[in-house]
Parts: sequence; C-alpha cells; structure tokens
Amino acid sequence: MRKIMIVGAGQAGLQLGIGLLQRGYRVSITSNRTPEDLRTGKVLSSQCMFHDSLQLERDRGLNFWEAECPPVEGISFTVPHPELPGEKAMSWGHRLDHKAQSVDQRVKVPGWMAEFSRLGGELLMHEAGMDDLERWTQDHDLVIVAAGKGAIAQMFQRDASRSPYDQPQRALALTYVHGMAPRPEYSAVNFNLIPGVGEYFVFPALTVSGPCEIMVFEGVPGGPMDCWGDVATPAQHLALSKEILGKFLPWEAARCTQVELTDANGILAGRFAPTVRKPVGQLPSGRVVMGMADAVMLNDPITGQGSNNAAKFANAVERAIVAHGDQPFDAAFMQQTFEAFWAGYGHHATDWTNAMLSPPPPHVLKVLGAACGEPRVARRIVNGFNDPTDFVNFFMTPDKVDAYLEAVPA
Ligand SMILES: Cc1cc2nc3c(=O)[nH]c(=O)nc-3n(C[C@H](O)[C@H](O)[C@H](O)COP(=O)(O)OP(=O)(O)OC[C@H]3O[C@@H](n4cnc5c(N)ncnc54)[C@H](O)[C@@H]3O)c2cc1C
Repeated sequence: MRKIMIVGAGQAGLQLGIGLLQRGYRVSITSNRTPEDLRTGKVLSSQCMFHDSLQLERDRGLNFWEAECPPVEGISFTVPHPELPGEKAMSWGHRLDHKAQSVDQRVKVPGWMAEFSRLGGELLMHEAGMDDLERWTQDHDLVIVAAGKGAIAQMFQRDASRSPYDQPQRALALTYVHGMAPRPEYSAVNFNLIPGVGEYFVFPALTVSGPCEIMVFEGVPGGPMDCWGDVATPAQHLALSKEILGKFLPWEAARCTQVELTDANGILAGRFAPTVRKPVGQLPSGRVVMGMADAVMLNDPITGQGSNNAAKFANAVERAIVAHGDQPFDAAFMQQTFEAFWAGYGHHATDWTNAMLSPPPPHVLKVLGAACGEPRVARRIVNGFNDPTDFVNFFMTPDKVDAYLEAVPA
C-alpha cells in the first residue's frame, strides 16, 4: 500500500486525501487549523463551485450539503451607466445549464475532515515546516503541499513566465449576510463591473447559520473600493459594504435594506498577488515534494474559480497517482502531472482570470454587449464559468470574437 502525505486540509488536500483513501492508499493529512478553529473562525472564501467541480465532489460522496445549500441557477452581468447615476449601461443574465453551489468552508472543511478520519485517514493537527517535509519524504512515497496561501507555499519558485502580475490586482472583501431580498425569477451570481472602481458580485450560499448571501467586493487598488483599511468592527464592515452599494450600485443596495451579518466572523478583507509557481519543491536534502492547487496556481477570485481549480487539480493529481502504479513519484512525475493539468485546464482558467483583471478590451466589450440581445451568447459566457476552457474559442481574442459573433445568427 503506497503512503501519501498531504500538507493542508482545504478543498484540494481533503478531496485528494479522501479520493485516495477510497482507492486503497494510506493517506495522512496535516492541518494547521483544527475543525473547531475553522468552524468558529473567520470566513475564508466565497467558494462558489460550478457543476463539473460539484460532480467531482459527488463522485467521492462528498456532497453532504447539496440538499440544504441554496442553488445558484444563473449568472447576470451589469455595468452601471458612467454618466447617468442609477442607470445601467449594460445588463443581461442567463441560467446556467446546471446549478452551482457555495458551501462555506467553515462548514465543509470540518465535515470533510471527519469523513477523512472515518475512512481511516490519519489527520494530524500540526503546522508543517521544512523539517517535517524532510522527514515525511523519507517515510512516504509522495508528499504533496496543498497549503493554499500558507507561507510554506513559498518554497515553490514563482514562475514569472506564467505570472503576469507581481502585485495584488484587487482589494478583496467578503460580507456574509442574512436577510437580502431574493433576486427575481431565478437565483444567480449577480456580477457588477464598475469601470475603474472594481467589481461586486453576490450569490446565495450555505453558512454556519443556514442559507445566506455572500457579497464579494473586488476593489481596484487605490480606488474608492479599496477602502477596508480603517474598518475596526464587523458592524463597520457591514455599514461600509452597504455604503459602497448605495454609491455605485443602487439596484444591489435595494436588496440590502434588511441585511445583517450572519455572524461576527462573516467578514474578510485582504489582498494577494495572483501567482503561478513551479510545481516541484526541492528540500535542502535534494528530495522533492509536489505543490497542488492554490499553493502553485493562485488566481484572483474575480472569476470565482479557485475552489473549482482546486477540485479539478486534485482530481488530476489523484488520477495521475493511480495511473503511475508502483513507479516512483519523482520530480519528473510531479512536473509532468502539473504540465498536463496546466495545458489541458489550468492555463485556460488562469489566462481568463488574469484577463478579467485588466480593463476590458474592445473585443471583450463586444461579446459582452452581444450577450445583451442574444441569449445564446449570454448562455455560452455563463456556462464558461463551469468550463473556462471554452473561452479561448470565442472570447479571448478579437479574431475569435468576430468569428463567433458572425456565426451566431446562423
Ligand atoms: C475573497 C475570496 C473569495 C473567493 N471566492 C471564490 C469563489 O467564489 N469560487 C471559488 O471557486 N473560489 C473562490 N476563492 C478561492 C478558493 O477559496 C481557493 O482557491 C481554494 O480554497 C483553494 O483550495 P486549496 O485547497 O488550494 O487551499 P485552501 O483552501 O486555502 O486550503 C489550504 C489549507 O492549508 C492550511 N495550511 C497552510 N499552511 C499550512 C502548513 N504549513 N501546515 C498545515 N496546514 C497548512 C491552511 O490553513 C488551509 O486550511 C476565493 C478566495 C478568496 C480569498
């Protein structure tokens, strides 16, 4: 029986750990947070996951909250009018082919930790350091670092050729609330793009106190939505969230007259630079460990892909481990596994996400504008959130946009 050690009990580490246990591997996971820390701690993400990623969880029997978690049935896209306050310059929406869902990681991760232990996995409560990695590489067949934004991920060298930004591109904030007026017709991610200011999106989710809505703010650094630094209390955080909506997005503010925080920890503010790293980490001894998910492919949350990427990355690693049989998990295995994932999926999600951080170029405005009057275009964009590999075919470059829009009316 091959022995696998995983650092980090998040979306990727636990999904992989549980998947490998189900396939007969011996798996240990180390976490620097206990289930109690997680459950009673601050929110970590908005973690909206789309159909293909949810299916990976279903395949492993991990969709414990599917029935109680409110569905996200569609996506809408709105740009406020630059000169007419309160008016929209562009607004459209479409249903997803299959629902998305967001289960607060404060609910999900402790639940998955319990499942991992129930299946016979060894769950350690310990912050891994380099000495631990040295030790584990000696008594395990493979050590995987799935530590997200944890400091240990810096052992993986930044890949400048795949990381166009070396600074944070957005000031991020989350506000989890109860009491928001539902969107008419169908539930959705309401995505609002305020040129020069940033983005705001909001959608239903399941948190520690039941169904809620998650407000996500993505402020352009130095702009008016980069404003969280002086917030001292949860009440101030909520008040500022409402103030931003009142100022820029009155139609969203109108849904929020009755909102209250889900709990004092239902808030977050921070920023990070999107970074792709080399997947093979070399220890002082020369032995190697493999990086997975956010530890080596960290994207800005603007497109809501991080947990989806983590789920798909973990799935790719699980399949590669099984396909590798009894062969050694050496640096070549790690590099190849990453490159296959990057080429087939990772670079699509990353390139699209990075592109969305820049002011939209004319071809993007053209296709977004076309979606206003043509539901087929809207449907294709919306379902790209489930499978971003499609964007390269009709969205990412002027020639593809033109070819697509010419073909649509046919
Ligand atoms: C504001 C915000 C909004 C987001 N919204 C979305 C969204 O809507 N949709 C979406 O798909 N994604 C979203 N994401 C991204 C998503 O949350 C992450 O991409 C995803 O959780 C990554 O999974 P992971 O397993 O790689 O890392 P994580 O989930 O971060 O898990 C890593 C774990 O490792 C632990 N750890 C770190 N260092 C060590 C160590 N040395 N030893 C032991 N344990 C360690 C950490 O404590 C953590 O528990 C958002 C992120 C942010 C910040």
